[in-house]
Amino acid sequence: MFEKVLIANRGEIALRIHRACREMGIKTVAVHSTADHDAMHVRLADESVCIGPPPARESYLNKAAILTAATITNADAIHPGYGFLSENADFASMVEEHGFTFIGPSPDHIRMMGDKITAKRAALDAGLPVVPGSEGSLNSEDEALAAAEVAGYPIIIKATAGGGGKGMKVANDSLGLREAWRLARNEAKASFGNPDVYLEKYLDRPRHIEVQILADSFGNVVHLGERDCSLQRKHQKVLEEAPSPALNATERERIGGIACAAIRKLGYRNAGTLEFLYQDGEFYFIEMNTRLQVEHPITEMISGLDLVREQIRVAAGAPLGYAQADIRFSGHAIECRINAEDPNTFAPCPGRIGGYHAPGGLGVRVDSGLYAGYKVPSQYDSMIAKLVVHGTSRNECLMRLRRALGEFVIEGVQTTIPLHERIIAQQAFVNGEYDIHWLERLVGLKG
Ligand code: ADP
Repeated sequence: MFEKVLIANRGEIALRIHRACREMGIKTVAVHSTADHDAMHVRLADESVCIGPPPARESYLNKAAILTAATITNADAIHPGYGFLSENADFASMVEEHGFTFIGPSPDHIRMMGDKITAKRAALDAGLPVVPGSEGSLNSEDEALAAAEVAGYPIIIKATAGGGGKGMKVANDSLGLREAWRLARNEAKASFGNPDVYLEKYLDRPRHIEVQILADSFGNVVHLGERDCSLQRKHQKVLEEAPSPALNATERERIGGIACAAIRKLGYRNAGTLEFLYQDGEFYFIEMNTRLQVEHPITEMISGLDLVREQIRVAAGAPLGYAQADIRFSGHAIECRINAEDPNTFAPCPGRIGGYHAPGGLGVRVDSGLYAGYKVPSQYDSMIAKLVVHGTSRNECLMRLRRALGEFVIEGVQTTIPLHERIIAQQAFVNGEYDIHWLERLVGLKG
């Protein structure tokens, strides 16, 4: 087992990884920008290294600085968390080349899944159902028009290098497609430095359902059920639940089985998530995330497994040690992403935290680096806490969530707590009847 792990991230996820390491008796190294020297992940780590100024590209994305920090602290392995360098295949290779273990999949798998076209091809080859659409990236507007005719309108144009919901445009007809083609390519170029786009059929009322998998180096693969992440705004997840209210046990087993078979065929190792759209009883693969996800705690709550611990064990060469039949799901879990944002306009709202009181009690978990007096920096993502609630049933989970949201005090900055209160008060949400457009219909797209 590793003696020391460097955590190449910040905020709640750095803290989350530190906690797993601490419980496993592994020492931790925090890295941080100058904006984060007071952050909780830095305070709790055994050692910390400042890796640069506040802008992420000069600190949390600075590969050389992170590798230097790992070298001078004599770390054995690097955990990338999510975001930042977590899906950067070159970084994963550099980590291995420098003699450290990358806590994640192989660079080849990261590369394959990082490009949405090679990912979709690999998914097809591995037997996963995909959304109908263009074969590969589109070379011209005429090619796009022809592909759209085949797929049938409405269509969605997506960036090959996409992520975070950027570079996606919907078109209802050929006129709209010309506009979407131009806009999506410009956005893709600006966001990812790569203008390549592809096109697929736009599903009008799907749910976003993703399957968590774990795989070791010995060919053992299990799935840990699904998460329903349909509550989104601008293609960004806001609230997630597990299990999905839309699936029954048979469908769960079916998609879990398909996912495990694909992962086995790909020879993938470590934790990963296969994302699907689900409509009219059919699943369509959209992408794979080759890392830990923000919403992983809801899977932990219903499976009892510590996903970060499992990632570390697998990376250290240990076998999973359990089979699918050993995985037992219990109850229901919901995660609310709490952002430092105006709950009406969604404008980021960084600043100093005044009073702070996190909810507690049975089945309530708060993953956050916040404390009274902490200054939320303006340079990074606005998510400041994740409230994760577990109940023996969905109904119990909802009642507990309402209670926990009511207890949460975060003063000094505006937060999206009122948005979550509003969501869970809607009858449609209580009934589990929502698709990926439901939240935008509720709150609009302003901001
Ligand atoms: P990103 O990597 O940018 O997050 P994804 O491919 O995962 O992009 O898609 C993000 C979200 O965009 C999905 O959860 C869904 O809401 C929407 N979306 C993607 N593809 C389609 C599609 N073919 N039809 C309808 N909505 C889609």
